[in-house]
Amino acid sequence: MRRHVAQASPGSTEPGAVRLLTPTVAGNIHGMGITAPIVVVTDLDGTLLDHNTYEAGPAAAALQTLQDAGVTIVCCSAKTRAEQQVHRRDLAIAGPFVVENGAAVHADHGPVRVLGLDYGEVRDRLAGVAASLDVSLRGFGDMEIVEVVERTGLSAGAAARAQERDHTEPFVVDGDGVNEPTLRGALHDRGLGLQRGARFWTAGGFHDKGDAVAVLRELYTVERGERPLMYGLGDTYNDAAMLAAVDVPMLVQRPDGGWADLAVDNLTRLDGIGPVGWCLGAEAILATASTA
Ligand SMILES: [Mg+2]
Repeated sequence: MRRHVAQASPGSTEPGAVRLLTPTVAGNIHGMGITAPIVVVTDLDGTLLDHNTYEAGPAAAALQTLQDAGVTIVCCSAKTRAEQQVHRRDLAIAGPFVVENGAAVHADHGPVRVLGLDYGEVRDRLAGVAASLDVSLRGFGDMEIVEVVERTGLSAGAAARAQERDHTEPFVVDGDGVNEPTLRGALHDRGLGLQRGARFWTAGGFHDKGDAVAVLRELYTVERGERPLMYGLGDTYNDAAMLAAVDVPMLVQRPDGGWADLAVDNLTRLDGIGPVGWCLGAEAILATASTA
């Protein structure tokens, strides 16, 4: 199957234009039919990284195979800039990265595009929500490191990096709590969006991972003068917009062996949990490219 891609204007010649694509990409993965730059946008927790151990395991090698083939890997996670820099270094990921559920697109040198609010502003508005609902909403900024460690299973160092926040605030509802529609409505009234992750609610601006994918597509199209072919890999609800925004969406299994119930068209459900499913996705990407 030959994939047709939309042509756009030639690459940017603006001074200081950020180069985002993997430099080795020759436009022809495995020398076969795909001529567009290939970008794999991946969630981290529960997808590339195991939900409990936060290790990539077998996916580390699969990731390098893709990069060696000229594929650009973009981490797109609820994790912070500080957290993702460590994972990108450990896994030798060269591509840019999307932090805090689509709040910003970063390259190594700093932010390329910011879609989110400042963290302090989010904290202030969240305090207003808690007061209006008369509930206790406790965010990462209210927790000691030991509590973040207990709730996440992260190491103390990783928990500290999770608390280095720029744009969004994960939180828990203490006591009897509040139902989701009420919570979502109260946040909306104060200009905050609500994301549902595997462990926490997260408050932030009105952005999601899908908005970041749209920015990436725009940036890559300008850089290369052609629309990239974008794959997406995720595991849960906060990946739905990302998966809906890519060309080829893939979903790995949750730790219980099931798939999150996401309403995303043309979704490929990979028969493996977290990084094991990620490896199957990587194989499919290479196989599709090689037979295109
Ligand atoms: Mg996840």
